[in-house]
Parts: sequence; structure tokens; C-alpha cells
Amino acid sequence: MKMVINGEWVGSLSDRTYTVKNPANGEAVGPVPLGVRDDVKRAADAAEEALSRWSGTSSHHRGQILARAAARIREQAEEIAIILTAEQGKPQREAIDEVRGSARVFEYYAGLSSNPLATIQRLEDGSEATVLREPIGVCGAILPWNMPALLMAWKVGPALLTGNTVVLKPATATPLTPLMMAAALHDAGLPNGVLNVVTGSGDEVGEEIVRSKQIRKVSFTGSTQTGKRIMTLAAHDLKRLTLELGGSDPMIICGDADIPKAVAGAVAGRFYNAGQICTAVKRLYVVDAVADQVIEQITEKVGQITVGDGMKPEVKMGPLSSMQGRESIRSVVRQVVDREEGRVIAGGELPQGDEYLRGNFYTPTLVTDVAPDSVLLREEIFGPVLPIVRVKDLNEAITAANSTRYGLGASVWTSDPKTIRVAVGGLKAGIVWVNQHLKIPPEVPFGGVKESGVGRENGMQSLDAYTEAKTVLVRL
Ligand code: NAD
Repeated sequence: MKMVINGEWVGSLSDRTYTVKNPANGEAVGPVPLGVRDDVKRAADAAEEALSRWSGTSSHHRGQILARAAARIREQAEEIAIILTAEQGKPQREAIDEVRGSARVFEYYAGLSSNPLATIQRLEDGSEATVLREPIGVCGAILPWNMPALLMAWKVGPALLTGNTVVLKPATATPLTPLMMAAALHDAGLPNGVLNVVTGSGDEVGEEIVRSKQIRKVSFTGSTQTGKRIMTLAAHDLKRLTLELGGSDPMIICGDADIPKAVAGAVAGRFYNAGQICTAVKRLYVVDAVADQVIEQITEKVGQITVGDGMKPEVKMGPLSSMQGRESIRSVVRQVVDREEGRVIAGGELPQGDEYLRGNFYTPTLVTDVAPDSVLLREEIFGPVLPIVRVKDLNEAITAANSTRYGLGASVWTSDPKTIRVAVGGLKAGIVWVNQHLKIPPEVPFGGVKESGVGRENGMQSLDAYTEAKTVLVRL
């Protein structure tokens, strides 16, 4: 597939391509252009050129295009999901959920198109104050590889609705899904130049998006390390930033929780997308009184997860996205065992059998008796490994849950309203779930505190994030 600049499907000025590989078997999924800095320049030129026409249309018109794009994505959901599984590895069921979820996001923004953004008020001295919300201009969007369809919609939906134009860079590993989504948006009537997609590396294409003087805002989702680099680069022209970064979400199971539901929540929360989700359950804290029960039930459930190629209907967990990712998980688990930082009670090895030889597979892994300073509790582990920690009570759980540099999500599982209040007040996170984990509806703001990010996506807040306030004071 080619990339899209000014509504045309083009190769890179480098004339080079690279091959996207299927993480389940190493086979080629397809070639895409290896973009270079000058490709970002021509994408930014196209976006700049399209800006005044696009921002001059009504938000109703822009919303209608988003609604038609959503319908198109729904029609093509199965086709897009096949490509998503082929380039990313997730099981088909999860891929279809993600693609439909991205359509749902565009529908949400289409629905906001008749909401007035400006406010007017009369001041003490008789002046009339109008606060307009104007588009920022050309916006950069940089995506990770774990949820390419959904995260594209989180950025492109509000950016386009509010009249901005976009230069988007998909992750190197997963460019095809965003390119198919871009095609759906163009089929829905998006004018040329409003959304441009440049494929290529983070070092070249990503950095150029952040450095470009034509691009006034960057919305980035990815690791905390890259987020810090982007923040440094963005300082040179004070670019507006939204940074959605890494997480190490804690889940707390209290003594009065519905244990089977909590166990199901922990397993889905950790092993969905092979554990490669920013808000995956990355640390499980269980109150002593129910810990044995929880560990027994989780072990049983994890033993039932079928690992394999996501195209097979029986598969519940696909491969990791990259061999490097798989090897990093493998080495973390080895370190835990070698340094006696925990006891592996399930998984902790490569799955056996010919079907696994060519893919980046790892077995779902549970670790108990985890040392308080273990890497499993300190760092974001982006794969299917769940450390389980026993705690005396809720207070100890909250203190442990907060003892990380991350603060994306957190969940508490309990049936007691007072416990809910204490946990919600005590947990340092951008989102706190009660008796659930993972769900991120487009209607509510999402983002992290501490090193999990800056700003929020989704909800009405995302409209603020893609506009600048202009205050007009009129004395009549
Ligand atoms: P990553 O930081 O390696 O890459 C993300 C994107 O940034 C890719 O497109 C990459 O090519 C690009 N990039 C890399 N270096 C760059 C640079 N110097 N300048 C500009 N762009 C650059 O992250 P990843 O491995 O793709 O994704 C996994 C990470 O993303 C995890 O830490 C995960 O928690 C996080 N994540 C966060 C959220 C959230 O909403 N908070 C959602 C999904 C994933």
C-alpha cells in the first residue's frame, strides 16, 4: 500500500519501501513506502494548503464526513480486521472490536458537531466577552502499534471535527490499518490534503513531524521515553502537545469482591492483546483473606488461554508484536527467576510446537511472591506477565499501587461503597475503574498523571485540546 499525501496515494521521495511482517509467522504482509523528511514537508505543505478551506466549512459538514467514514469503516470492519491481525497479531475477535470501536469514536465526534464551542457573557463594565475556539492549524499525530485503528480515531476525530488538518505517522510495524482507515475517510468525502499519512521510522518521519514549523500541535501515543524526547524537541517552537504514554496499572482485589468476576477481569485485563495495552492490568494486589482463592482461580483460567495465530478462531492470545518485544519479556522473566524476585506459577516459557517456531509467541505468565523492588513492579512490562502481590488491607494496596512513576489507570474490586470512596480518593491515576478495568469510552476524558502523559484525549476535553481560545471583548 502507498501513503496518502494531498489525497493521492504515493510512494516516498526516497523511492524506498520496507516490508510489514506478520508477527505470527514472519511472512510478508505488504510493502509500504519508507518515508523521509521531505515527505513530511510535502504532507505539511498539503495540510497547510487545505487548512483555510477545511476550517472554513461548518462543523456540521465536518461531522457528516466523520459519520460517513464511520459507516464505511463498519462496512469494511472484517476486511480491515484481517489486515490488523496480519500486521499486529491480535486475535480476529479483538481486531474486529477495535475497528468497530474506532467507528464508534468517529460517530461520537460526528454527534458533537452541533455543540456550540464558543461562549458569550456580559461583563461588569457592560462589555460583551466572546470566547471563540479556533482550530490550532496543522496537527501531527504519531501512533503506536498496539491499537492502531482506535488510537488513530482518538486523534483524527477531534482534530478534524474542530477544523484542523493532519499529518499522521503510523507505527512502523502497523501502517496498513491506518492507511485503510485513511482510505475510508477519503471515500466518505474528506477533501484532499486534510488528512495526510506518512509511513516510516520514528527517528526520521516522527522527529520531522515534531520539528516541523508548519505543524503547530503534536498528539503522540507511545512510550514514556519517546514522549520525553518529543517534549524536548517540541520546546523549540512551543508546540502544543498531547502525550499519552506508558502505564503500570494496578488492580486491587478487596476481601468483599465478587471473586469470579474479579478473576475474569484480571485475566482479560492482563492478557487482552497479549498484554500490550497501556492500561493493561500490570500489577495485581490482592487482600490476604482472598489471595489463595484468587491465585487458584487465575491459574486455572490462564491455563485455558489458547495461544496461536490470531486468524484461528480458537485462539485467545496472539503473538507479541515484535521479536524484540518477545525477547524483552523473556529476559525480564529470566531476570525475575535468576534473581529470585518472584515465583513463576504459570507460563514463563515459549510455547512448544512447530506452529510457534516462526512467530513471536510467549505463554501467559503468572508470578507470585514478588519482591517489592522487582522490575515487574517498577517498570512497565508490555507483554503477558502478571505479578500478583498479597497485601494486608486496602491502605497497603493503595500505597503500593501509587509507588510508581506511572499514573494511567487503576482499578478496585469491591462491593463496599466506603471502600470505593477511599480507593477513588487515594489512587493516583487518570482513570479509576470500580469492578472493571480496560474500558475507555469515547465520551469521557482519558489520559495519565505523573509520567503517563500530558493532557487528555476523548470527551469534550479533546475539543479544547485541538483548539485555541480567542477572547473577543466588545464594548458597545
Ligand atoms: P514508541 O514510543 O516506541 O513509538 C510510538 C510511535 O512513536 C511510533 O510511531 C514510533 O515510530 C514513533 N517514534 C519513535 N521515536 C520517535 C521520535 N524520536 N520522535 C517522534 N516519533 C517517534 O511506542 P510503541 O512501542 O509503539 O508503543 C508502546 C507504548 O505506547 C507503551 O509504553 C504503551 O503503554 C504506550 N501506549 C500508551 C497509550 C496511552 O493512551 N497512554 C496507548 C497505547 C500505548
